[in-house]
Amino acid sequence: MITLENVSKWYGKFQVLKNCTTKVGKGEVVVVCGPSGSGKSTLIKTVNGLEPIQQGKIIIDDTEITNPSTNLAKLRSKVGMVFQHFELFPHLTILKNLTLAQIKVLGRSDEEAREKALSLLDRVGLLAHANKYPAQLSGGQQQRVAIARALCMDPIVMLFDEPTSALDPEMVNEVLDVMVELAYEGMTMMVVTHEMGFARKVAHRVIFMDAGEIIEDTSKEQFFTNPQSDRAKDFLAKII
Ligand code: ADP
Ligand code: MG
Repeated sequence: MITLENVSKWYGKFQVLKNCTTKVGKGEVVVVCGPSGSGKSTLIKTVNGLEPIQQGKIIIDDTEITNPSTNLAKLRSKVGMVFQHFELFPHLTILKNLTLAQIKVLGRSDEEAREKALSLLDRVGLLAHANKYPAQLSGGQQQRVAIARALCMDPIVMLFDEPTSALDPEMVNEVLDVMVELAYEGMTMMVVTHEMGFARKVAHRVIFMDAGEIIEDTSKEQFFTNPQSDRAKDFLAKII
């Protein structure tokens, strides 16, 4: 579903991604972890074309996003992305936040978009809040709305970049629960997170990055019980 081949990227002279190669299969859940500044956010943003790369190839479901003739806007609508900060439109109701792109990008009718939005709000337990504004919801609720909004587009892949790290601790689980459910339903997911409980529960593989490189790309069993590199061992010792 996602293929990265020798992806390299520079910010000026600084090489932020070094020859990153990996694959995420359909229905696979891959957790990306590593120290701050190791390039995790950059890597995940390259996957939906939010960050251009200078070398290598990225293919999503048969479409090479690094090919100049690829319609990036169309491709992005198939790749859901959830960030650390929820980035909901503050001046729109929750329902409007969920229908806007469906109508504008996918060309759905108001009624179709509304039905889809309400069913996804129901699924994340927020149906009763459809007519509120983002600021009236807690951080955990806003992040669940952000997930529902991404799902409204019927994505073939979901990307998450530290979706729980800006939340108060008591709200982390309500968001992780939604993600766990998605994973069990077979969604293809690439998740940057330090929530190792989540990784242990649903990840099929773990990618460990350091200084722009993929240092380990292994099964979660291998990663947690027998990490190969000293850097991964140090990292695990610090966070577990
Ligand atoms: P992570 O998500 O693992 O913390 P990032 O991908 O955000 O790491 O950043 C990797 C490195 O690239 C860091 O050293 C960061 O300072 C640098 N970086 C990120 N964005 C930019 C940018 N727009 N311009 C220059 N350097 C950047
Ligand atoms: Mg980051």
